[in-house]
Amino acid sequence: MGSAVDAATMEATQRLIKKKPTVVFVLGGPGSGKGTQCANIVKHFGFTHLSAGDLLRAEIKSGSENGTMIENMIKEGKIVPSEVTIKLLQNAMLESGNDKFLIDGFPRNEENRAAFEAVTKIEPAFVLFFECSEEEMERRLLSRNQGREDDNIETIRKRFKVFVESSMPVVEYYESKGKVRKIDAAKPIEEVFEAVKTVFTAQDDKVAA
Ligand code: UDP
Ligand code: MG
Repeated sequence: MGSAVDAATMEATQRLIKKKPTVVFVLGGPGSGKGTQCANIVKHFGFTHLSAGDLLRAEIKSGSENGTMIENMIKEGKIVPSEVTIKLLQNAMLESGNDKFLIDGFPRNEENRAAFEAVTKIEPAFVLFFECSEEEMERRLLSRNQGREDDNIETIRKRFKVFVESSMPVVEYYESKGKVRKIDAAKPIEEVFEAVKTVFTAQDDKVAA
């Protein structure tokens, strides 16, 4: 069975490489407003929004064989193995008619980043990074009422720790390559989006078209 899955994944990889999609990674702590701002970017700039967390939650709901493992990791604020998340992202990009994607909440650690690059051969056009204090993010997470099992204070603290220890190194890696566009995300939604618009408008035709 393993080899059949591998063959399917390899075939998907080949098709995706031919598609040469434009990818923007959207990073920031839990509650920094990634999902909210991605919805705005989709409307104004014609991207397709792929939330890694949403894809994983859909995978749980679909009753997949990995569902229980994913559910347990999310409850603990831990990072799901790269191969699972990459496969979901890769399939979502292939199934879409679009070739411009916002990948939100991924890569979450250096291993995610290196594996995604190695498998898909895709390098992000740039990385949108939402900067926000933990106090503000905690306030937002505790008041958003989306029925998420990980929006409780205990899991939130774990997610903050994972973000600082594992996800910030990814931001620093892209910063060293001059690819990070930093946004002050502590402001009201409309003001944050003004800053986001400036970033997307300044990009080359392929991104801004
Ligand atoms: N997650 C993961 N890999 C990913 C994206 C998400 O393992 O690439 C898991 C992780 O446990 C995380 C949870 O899904 O804490 C929720 O992620 P999401 O991005 O939806 O939440 P956010 O941090 O933006 O509130
Ligand atoms: Mg989110």
